[in-house]
Amino acid sequence: MSSSHHNNGITQTVRALKGVGELRGELLENFGIVTLYDLLTHFPRRYLDRTRIAKIADIEIGKDVTAIGQVIAFRAYQGRYQRFVLVIRDESGELKCIWFRGAHYLKNTFKMGEWLAVHGKVKFYKGMQMSHPDYDRLTESKQGLNTRKIIPLYRSTAELDTAGLDSRAMRRLMWKALEENSASIEENLPERLIKKYKLLSRRAAIDKIHFPDSEDQLNAAIRRLKFEELFYLELMIGLRKLKVKNLTKGIQFESIGEKTRALLANLPFELTDAQKKVIKEIWQDMNSARPMNRLLHGDVGSGKTIVSIAVMLIAVENGYQSALMAPTEILAEQHYLSLKQFLADFGISIELVIGGQKKSEREKITKKIASGEANIIIGTHALFQEKIKFEKLGLIIVDEQHKFGVMQRAKLRRKGINPDVLVMTATPIPRTLALTVYGDLDVSLLDQKPGNRIPIKSVIRYQDKREEIYRYVREQVDLGRQAYIIFPLVEESEKMDLQAATESYETLKYGVYHGLNIALLHGRMKGDEKDKIMSSFKSGYYKILIATTVVEVGVDVANASIMVIEHAERFGLTQLHQLRGRIGRGSEQSYCIFIAHKPLNQLARKRLQTLERTTDGFEIAEVDLKLRGPGEFFGIRQHGMPKLKIADLSEDYNILEIARKEAFSLLQEDSTLNTPKNQMVRLFFDQYYEDSFRLSKVA
Ligand code: ADP
Ligand code: MG
Repeated sequence: MSSSHHNNGITQTVRALKGVGELRGELLENFGIVTLYDLLTHFPRRYLDRTRIAKIADIEIGKDVTAIGQVIAFRAYQGRYQRFVLVIRDESGELKCIWFRGAHYLKNTFKMGEWLAVHGKVKFYKGMQMSHPDYDRLTESKQGLNTRKIIPLYRSTAELDTAGLDSRAMRRLMWKALEENSASIEENLPERLIKKYKLLSRRAAIDKIHFPDSEDQLNAAIRRLKFEELFYLELMIGLRKLKVKNLTKGIQFESIGEKTRALLANLPFELTDAQKKVIKEIWQDMNSARPMNRLLHGDVGSGKTIVSIAVMLIAVENGYQSALMAPTEILAEQHYLSLKQFLADFGISIELVIGGQKKSEREKITKKIASGEANIIIGTHALFQEKIKFEKLGLIIVDEQHKFGVMQRAKLRRKGINPDVLVMTATPIPRTLALTVYGDLDVSLLDQKPGNRIPIKSVIRYQDKREEIYRYVREQVDLGRQAYIIFPLVEESEKMDLQAATESYETLKYGVYHGLNIALLHGRMKGDEKDKIMSSFKSGYYKILIATTVVEVGVDVANASIMVIEHAERFGLTQLHQLRGRIGRGSEQSYCIFIAHKPLNQLARKRLQTLERTTDGFEIAEVDLKLRGPGEFFGIRQHGMPKLKIADLSEDYNILEIARKEAFSLLQEDSTLNTPKNQMVRLFFDQYYEDSFRLSKVA
């Protein structure tokens, strides 16, 4: 097979197709479809299975259905109760569809008499109705659909629609493109894998994903294409990992010193087995000449800090500097204080680099870092500044890594000569992301919490119960506990949020909490002001801390056992889990109360119910991934991942696991993909993945 010749077929521009002129060509290009390959991999977003379309008269309440009918009426209602109502009819009856948003747009979207397929759940409310259905406009009559059993529907846009490139036109284009070019679709997976996993050929899969004859055939096509996509993704990740591991030489730390041994022998607590295990794993990496690129993954409260202190001390005792980077100033300061405390007897010089330090002070610190006098340097992203130069940076630890992007990590890495890198995160990573977004890192897991922690009790309450809740908090404080009351603060409404928090603080201080020492803490305060408040809360002087999300990560006050979260419906799932992790650290039963404001939408309800049900970070992360979708979770794009066309990281764990195993074993045999046997894989990789690879290998 001569690939270059055949490849011409599907690498030509879509304009080569009859029916694609200047205007359509341009619209398609704007839509991301430049070549025939792009067109053929523009997969249907849904299918209409003719055998499964419900007659309107037979629709059952509460079930997901697809119905097809002709538009017989529609109307937009403006004003206070804005809505858009549309009625479709088939031979058996009529169905009302209703939208509570977008009436403006919708009223210009539909035409009387046109055929529509609507998908959704039907509810009973003064008759049957489907709210916010997903819809497809079928330009052909229902009769016209009878020619195929399963009809592909394509994602479209208003612009494509107006240029006549609706789903139907897309089907015609696709048919034509396949008719003329399917012969030039070449296999890109090793024959062995096709056989082993009984995969469709690439040509058959691309053909059948657009025009399946049966559901089984469609599923086989989807499976094959998902496998292919994930296989190449894992090749990319595998190559990235190999690059760091094999091609670069790192630091080989020689020994665990006396001070580290003394630190670990004299801790005020016994290390958990999990802590001992991960310290060993990290040490093995440090002790090898390859650069460490490891993720330390442990739920909130699992004791990551002491692990990081121990390994930083190892690096220092081997004559190197260690840097610890935290996402917020509060957290950086807290780490600084912990380190000072734990390392008090060892004569180690620890410096803090955060924004807002006086110029003279900063200069002094910068000098100490450059001369090597500073052994351990803690900081926020202020550590990135050009001016900060390390004398001999050997180990970098990034705490709560999900707050940092790949680029930032890379930037810090360049401050040393292939230093070892450890990233720590409390955000449990769903299984699929561990194999992809974090797939180039080695993983250590702290799967055990220290001590005999009592699980936190969590409840959802509506705002009408607020007074009762606040009185309950007072009772608990009178019993000697401390409490957090958290207010949301989001960028879009920062001013108003801050005002709400400040006003509530005033109201509480002179109302229900009269006579108690309570404090307000938010991100807009000066560093030393925040410090003072935090340390007074830690020492027990303040009983209640009214705070915005600045306490989200890392803050550690064991006596605080109550948390009230206002407007809990506005927070994300992971964020709520992190916040809640501030309590449940001591020997008393802890309580978390989520105050929700009505109306509560379905997603928010689902989030809060998940938290009410479990404190298991992994379970929470899986739900979060499902609810938000992989694109949003962690901002995957920012992590240098190519966009997936068909695989879905919230669902395809099983295929992913196999694809990864096979991709990695291929690389094990042939780490450069240069043997003739793998030439086809190499070609395809270079053509479609090389760019993403180049963009992402910075990690
Ligand atoms: P995180 O993993 O959330 O960063 P921390 O390192 O802040 O957790 O630890 C939470 C608390 O548990 C701290 O007060 C810490 O001193 C304490 N801790 C850590 N390890 C142990 C242990 N093995 N036994 C008892 N307490 C521990
Ligand atoms: Mg921490």
